[in-house]
Amino acid sequence: MKSIAENIQTVVNDIKGFEQLYARPQDSVTLIAASKTQTAERIIEAYKAGIRNFGENYLQEAINKRSALSQEDIIWHFIGPIQSRKARDIALHFDWVHSVDRLVVAEKLSRNRPVGKPPLKVFIQVNISNDPNKSGVSVKQTAELAQQIMSLPGLQLRGLMTLPRAEQELSKQRTVFRELRRLLKDLQTDLPQMDSLSMGMSQDLEAAVAEGATFVRVGTAIFGAREPNSSKTN
Ligand SMILES: *Cc1c(COP(=O)(O)O)cnc(C)c1O
Repeated sequence: MKSIAENIQTVVNDIKGFEQLYARPQDSVTLIAASKTQTAERIIEAYKAGIRNFGENYLQEAINKRSALSQEDIIWHFIGPIQSRKARDIALHFDWVHSVDRLVVAEKLSRNRPVGKPPLKVFIQVNISNDPNKSGVSVKQTAELAQQIMSLPGLQLRGLMTLPRAEQELSKQRTVFRELRRLLKDLQTDLPQMDSLSMGMSQDLEAAVAEGATFVRVGTAIFGAREPNSSKTN
């Protein structure tokens, strides 16, 4: 079994290779290590191998782990579904939130963002494949939610995120990501500050970089396979 550091080297090299292959500027893709269910020790291992961005899905798990981590320059991303009653603590503990999909949650995040901190950077999660099992706002409702979020002082709207149904073929993966890219492009006419696309995981990294991802969220390819159904508590 490869070490976390070796896996990170492979993923970083893959991203560099895809940036070149698809004529993306160098270093235009930020790698987020999706560290749900991973221990603080394993996060430190990834940190030592150069990772600074970590993505967590479960609030309580993330808070527990962070109390064991002293690394000040970690950037924390919340990437899991948001229960409204958790929004307050998410606004306190994270730098980015990728999974905003309704106004009540956005309002609560904004209201609870501490005044001394910079606005919380957020993505709208879009259910691009209209999959009933996935969270996210529909393509049709995205523009309205974007306009509403723009008026919230505690938030800085930065772009769109999607978590599509797993597809095996590169061309099918690209079709879905292309749709998100086009949706962002439409929105940028009115909202030029939306400059980011959070898409791509271990299995569809190439397609995501090809279609303009600026953040990829990679778990399995860095940490290995997760235990099924572990850490289901929020
Ligand atoms: C777990 C997770 C990932 C990482 O998925 P892998 O297939 O393990 O790379 C990315 N995004 C979200 C929202 C996740 O929950």
